Amino acid sequence: MNSALTLYNSLSRKKEAFQSIHEGYIGMYVCGPTVYNDVHLGNCRTFVSFDVIFRYLRYLGYKVRYVRNITDVGHLLDGGEDRILKGARLEKLEPMEVVQKYTQGFHDMMRIFNVLPPSIEPRASGHILEQIEMVQAIIDNGYAYETNGSVYFDTVKFAEKEKVYGQLSGRVIDELFSETRDLKKQDEKRHPADFAIWMKADPEHIMRWKSPWSEGFPGWHLECSAMSTKYLGPTFDIHGGGNDLKFPHHENEVAQNVGACQCQPANYWLHTNMLLMNGRKMSKSDGNTITPEQLFTGNSEHISKSYSPMVLRFFMLQSHYRSTLDLTDDALGAAEKGYRRLMEGYRTLQGLSHSGQGNAGELDGEINQLIDQARAHMSDDFNTPMALARLFELVSKINGLRDGHLQLSQLTPETFARLQGAFSDFTFEILGLQEENIGGEANGKMDGLMQLIIELRQRSRANKDWATADKIRDTLQELNIQLKDGKDGTSWSLD
Ligand code: AMP
Ligand code: ZN
Repeated sequence: MNSALTLYNSLSRKKEAFQSIHEGYIGMYVCGPTVYNDVHLGNCRTFVSFDVIFRYLRYLGYKVRYVRNITDVGHLLDGGEDRILKGARLEKLEPMEVVQKYTQGFHDMMRIFNVLPPSIEPRASGHILEQIEMVQAIIDNGYAYETNGSVYFDTVKFAEKEKVYGQLSGRVIDELFSETRDLKKQDEKRHPADFAIWMKADPEHIMRWKSPWSEGFPGWHLECSAMSTKYLGPTFDIHGGGNDLKFPHHENEVAQNVGACQCQPANYWLHTNMLLMNGRKMSKSDGNTITPEQLFTGNSEHISKSYSPMVLRFFMLQSHYRSTLDLTDDALGAAEKGYRRLMEGYRTLQGLSHSGQGNAGELDGEINQLIDQARAHMSDDFNTPMALARLFELVSKINGLRDGHLQLSQLTPETFARLQGAFSDFTFEILGLQEENIGGEANGKMDGLMQLIIELRQRSRANKDWATADKIRDTLQELNIQLKDGKDGTSWSLD
């Protein structure tokens, strides 16, 4: 089979050219958002996780080519409607207006969470030619067939011949083939487990392109196969996404790549786990959802107060990317304390200065060991919670140095400089946290003041001094500070 060569040519790249571009680079591809509505906090968790991976690899000195796509065509809802077209219908917008609007919103949110932009952010609709050529390569290799202008991947034939189908997601082929059902265009497929790689557009379907088979649009899984191949080569290092994408999206991606060029797309697959809220999957349909804006303003029944973007980022880093993460008011409160403690540790460390006189004693060894361990945790599948635990042990040492329980003379100047450098590198460069203007100390003072005001108001109410109690509430309201009386007391939030 010489289809690997066919694919290189079809993507207008020579094999040699690929090699020279990719030499010395780590290639990482992450499935990006489908831009038909606001990005939700679960999406943010996945992108923050891969941001830390991107940052850590760069910190280690690797050159990383990070591709994170924008899905703007072909991702259908269960009923068969294209998500973008649904957005366009509901908002009475051009499909590309919908794409523009929510891509912008996604970028804004990524900036708020201090997520670095990827090296390349390709759009599915900008790579139709590459997708058509990949469909052709799969047909040429005998793994796809056309029916009525649509092209389907022949999953049964592929599974029999290549023996890789189901491996990534751990699905048992027999069960898969007996249980799969797909409501749309079932009759056109030879088997229910086959999936569309090109779909003929119905007359009312706006997003459509000419192809050898029909005027239509590519199947959703295809864009990632074609765009990762184009920008990272047929086999690259890391492919990521949320674990809800393992099947069918990623399993079908592998099938397409192997079907087109006999290449497994990625050496490593990394899947982030889901964000829950109060123990249940965060989901719009049953109301168990909260937007980033609601968190930043405190305007939701699920939380007692507002939480800043960096507190949320810290909260996400407190669990490993492969574990589920449960968002609760208590957990966010704890994350806020942790974030402040870390930032205060950083500021304290910046304020210390070493005299230049010091010997390597026990403390010196402990500090060096904690730094080494933090790095080892990050190198062990990007274990951010363990790395944070070591940083907090360093904060205890830093506070000891500040309070005089520990002495700077117990450290060599080199170790002190290493501590300052490593603490800052881990906090800002690797974990991607930022100091917040109204965070840290100022936030703590504001909270203290508000507790005092709340107590005074409660005292006025207990004394039936309603005029004072009302004045406190009204004045705070004028300052856009809301008080919320609950069974556990009164909380406050900034509007
Ligand atoms: P989508 O826009 O639905 O295609 O999702 C964009 C990315 O966010 C994908 O990598 C998904 O796997 C991921 N994702 C979606 N929902 C969640 C969630 N609740 N928790 C974590 N990641 C998610
Ligand atoms: Zn994808």
